[in-house]
Amino acid sequence: MDKNLFAERLNKCMKGKGLKQIDIVNAAADKKIKLGKSHVSQYVSGKTIPRDNIMQFLSELFGVTTEYLSGSDLETENSNQAENKNEEESENDILNRQKGEVKMREFKKSTKLNNVLYDVRGPVVEEAARMEANGTQVLKLNIGNPAPFGFRTPDEVIYDLSRQLTDCEGYSASKGMFSARKAIMQYAQNKNLPNVTIEDIYTGNGVSELINLSMQALLDDGDEVLVPSPDYPLWTACVTLAGGKAVHYICDEESDWYPDIDDMRKKINDNTKAIVIINPNNPTGALYNREVLQQIVDLAREKQLMIFSDEIYDRLVMDDLEHVSIASLAPDLFCVTFSGLSKSHMIAGFRIGWMVLSGNKELGKDYIQGINMLSNMRLCSNVPAQSIVQTALGGYQSVTNYIVPGGRIYEQREYIYKALNDIPGITAVKPKAAFYIFPKIDAKKFGIVNDEKFVLDLLKDKKILMIHGGGFNWGQPDHFRVVYLPRIEVLQEAMGKLGDFLSYYKQS
Ligand code: PLP
Repeated sequence: MDKNLFAERLNKCMKGKGLKQIDIVNAAADKKIKLGKSHVSQYVSGKTIPRDNIMQFLSELFGVTTEYLSGSDLETENSNQAENKNEEESENDILNRQKGEVKMREFKKSTKLNNVLYDVRGPVVEEAARMEANGTQVLKLNIGNPAPFGFRTPDEVIYDLSRQLTDCEGYSASKGMFSARKAIMQYAQNKNLPNVTIEDIYTGNGVSELINLSMQALLDDGDEVLVPSPDYPLWTACVTLAGGKAVHYICDEESDWYPDIDDMRKKINDNTKAIVIINPNNPTGALYNREVLQQIVDLAREKQLMIFSDEIYDRLVMDDLEHVSIASLAPDLFCVTFSGLSKSHMIAGFRIGWMVLSGNKELGKDYIQGINMLSNMRLCSNVPAQSIVQTALGGYQSVTNYIVPGGRIYEQREYIYKALNDIPGITAVKPKAAFYIFPKIDAKKFGIVNDEKFVLDLLKDKKILMIHGGGFNWGQPDHFRVVYLPRIEVLQEAMGKLGDFLSYYKQS
């Protein structure tokens, strides 16, 4: 209520009735209402306003409404007028918009996404989708999704999932259900991860969710993280989205795509918080040996860095080689190791992955609180998928059949490696794990200055979809990635078309 407006109206009423302040005090006393002279004087001078019962008495004395006396009639009127105006305006706006005369507000993506790149499902893939929508068949060698290529989930996993489905209707604990985490803990023990308890294990909707969560919890604006080049681009994207800077260290094609430790060292400064490794690697298919892992640990120890190790392909290692978890070599450092079932159990669509904290967790006490907060905020990961972790990790591992001689992944790797190296202008290092190969293309021979244009031209000409090296944060326009999940007959057709394309292709 406006005190001045009330005072103005009270004075007007007193004047109209010829009453003085003392007359009001007396009239109140007649009605046994307690009203002192000082009160009335304060009302008249606009210093204060009366309580409801006095307002009622005054309005009756002067024969006006309380709304009038308090001035609230004006407020209502003003708001009614404003409302009417708004209505008129919005009707006009609608008419103008219909006539196209008012510019509609546009909704733009957040600037946080400005430097975020994820070409595995990017513009070239969108072009492929357009072609498919127009009825063109495209052979998709762009994404590591086993199911469409006939890699089926083990029967036991499906059976156990169906048995448990009705028990999975509610949320689980935010880190995941006990049985799943216990199985992951035992798996971590088998890989010699030091100092891991059940509390150090977090399940996620795929490793993807946990990469994002772990970076969001860690990074302040300007913090730097060493990420491989080439990388699985989600790492660079998540570092960037979290406000950090992904600084790429080179993996050396001449040395089996191993990380270049000197390059890593050169790129560490006071802002560097962590090193990311992807082992086995996507897109190169490399598997790091103990020596190179030890060198990375030594560097992380010297520079006091955390280690993040993405090991989602650790059960897809060929040639009788052994996968070593880097965390097993670093009991005194704080490490986070990622893995999941998307690839080893061919259930990419179920969305189940995990991360394991190990080593010197004292160093990450505060960070762990951040991880717990973000983990709680997303409530929990997909519970039906958690329910089959124990089944999947225990007992017979059917994936082993694929990665030995005679197995599909092994034989497909043998084929693709030879077929690519047989095409003039292409060379490729033999992958040791996973199901990707990252061939080099002689950019000079084909005049390639833009690798994205190269894969787009190939898509348009030969209806084959692959991702250019730049999509994996590779700096030169001279690589591309092939997913060798399709059967050999399909790969044969694809390589035939690629060879033919490169017999006439010249970009500039
Ligand atoms: N990390 C790497 C290296 C990958 O290649 C992929 C998927 O291709 C992921 C993580 C994502 O896995 P998920 O299905 O568990 O989210």
